[in-house]
Amino acid sequence: MAATQEETFKKLVAHCKEYGFVFPSSEIYDGLGAVYDYGQNGVELKNNIKQYWWNSMTLLHQNIVGIDASIFMHPTVWKASGHVDAFNDPLIDNKDSKKRYRADVLIEDQLGKIEEKIQKEVDKAKKRFGDNFDEAMFRQTNGRVLEYQAKWDALHQRYSQAMNDMNLDELKQIILDEEIVCPISGTRNWTDVRQFNLMFATEMGSTADGAMKIYLRPETAQGIFVNFLNVQKTGRMKIPFGIAQIGKAFRNEIVARQFVFRMREFEQMEMQFFVRPGEEMKWFEYWKQFRLKWHKALGLGDDKYRYHDHEKLAHYANAATDIEFLMPFGFKEVEGIHSRTNFDLSQHAQFSGKKIEYFDPELNQSYTPYVIETSIGVDRMFLSIMCSAYKEEQLEGGDSRVVLSLPPVLAPVKCCVMPLVKKDGLPEKAQEVMNLLKFDFKTSYDEKDSIGKRYRRQDAIGTPFCITVDHDTLVDNCVTVRNRDTMLQERVNIDNLHEMIRKEVDPKELYRKLMD
Ligand code: ATP
Repeated sequence: MAATQEETFKKLVAHCKEYGFVFPSSEIYDGLGAVYDYGQNGVELKNNIKQYWWNSMTLLHQNIVGIDASIFMHPTVWKASGHVDAFNDPLIDNKDSKKRYRADVLIEDQLGKIEEKIQKEVDKAKKRFGDNFDEAMFRQTNGRVLEYQAKWDALHQRYSQAMNDMNLDELKQIILDEEIVCPISGTRNWTDVRQFNLMFATEMGSTADGAMKIYLRPETAQGIFVNFLNVQKTGRMKIPFGIAQIGKAFRNEIVARQFVFRMREFEQMEMQFFVRPGEEMKWFEYWKQFRLKWHKALGLGDDKYRYHDHEKLAHYANAATDIEFLMPFGFKEVEGIHSRTNFDLSQHAQFSGKKIEYFDPELNQSYTPYVIETSIGVDRMFLSIMCSAYKEEQLEGGDSRVVLSLPPVLAPVKCCVMPLVKKDGLPEKAQEVMNLLKFDFKTSYDEKDSIGKRYRRQDAIGTPFCITVDHDTLVDNCVTVRNRDTMLQERVNIDNLHEMIRKEVDPKELYRKLMD
């Protein structure tokens, strides 16, 4: 991360704590690694994200229904899914700093450094040539870029091969050959690379009865697969159809940093879409497009997203792509869209001994459906929104403010009602205004300090509207509405307030955009 970006990121983390968005878990005991609690504003933002996702799935698609499965599942589930044997990360320790890293992440960072060098050359040339710059041509012909690109290709090829074969010795050799150093100690004194299973285990039942080792689910998807027949039969669902779920997942991540980007306890929003064998690519494309549209509809900036197709496919997948978002530490995965074939249902059929098939009345035949999965982390989504919303602005007259330009639909508080002074009947009038709004919009009330200070407090949590009740209000039934982003103030009749706010914060407007 560049120094200034790192600074801004640190400020964002501090801001999240200061304004009740995210706290370190068990903070009075000095916290717990990579576990966080959401505060009073964080939980509202998070709930709004979940509502946007849930409704985009279950309201906008009549053939998608939701479930809420348990975190604990029968241990054989994780045998069947492959997690017991293969949900591993390759880890490596630096003997001097005693810090632990993911070998694949160290190599990917190295690839990222080469990409940055290429980008620097491109940016320099862009500046030099101005409007006449042909980027594609430059990338194909510039000597230095070609040199870097060749280096990147060779490293990438070697790395992909090692990951595909899970060749741990080769991963270590790449780290040595690339002269990758530990960011803490600066040395190349590495241990061998080992496999590390990411699942948390615990025991169920008393030991006298013979306790059973069970796992905290590392993904919510399996709860959907094992309920496929239940939902299909009781809901009389016809293929193609989907099952959506939001819930906690747990992974004992080796390197847990970057705030809520990589946590040990996090939340996923997953949807498994069951289709006819042979039609999976069509649906893969549909979900790829739809999910990107869902992200872009929030207006964080279209150029902040990109697809990243997987070169290394999981053994069960026949296509996979990530939607990446430009975080302060580079483009990072926020969501995965995977074509999982019939792997999961077949595995569960085999391990449970139950027939898990669908009778297709149109084809007059039974088959094991294929699956397209969309899987997004609530916390990563939260982080991407906060990163793009956080702004430090210099104002005229030497003043400054910190503002969260959150999409109004997601903002934790939609409006704050403020009596200009705490007397003359203004608080009572403000209360009347609150009563008009509070059943539809999260509305807060603030009568402390100067209006300017109150505005700053609301800016800091991203409240789109501040509504001031003054002496004139008692006469003309109008209030002053101040817009968070433009800071412009306008007089609005109280009778028109509700509609004015609704237009900006009603998720229905977003859903309509998605259906265009
Ligand atoms: P990564 O490569 O970053 O570890 P992944 O490819 O293992 O992620 P998936 O298994 O595809 O992730 O999980 C789906 C989504 O769940 C991710 O896109 C991400 O948003 C979220 N997610 C996964 N692991 C974590 C984590 N440790 N903390 C927060 N969110 C996570």
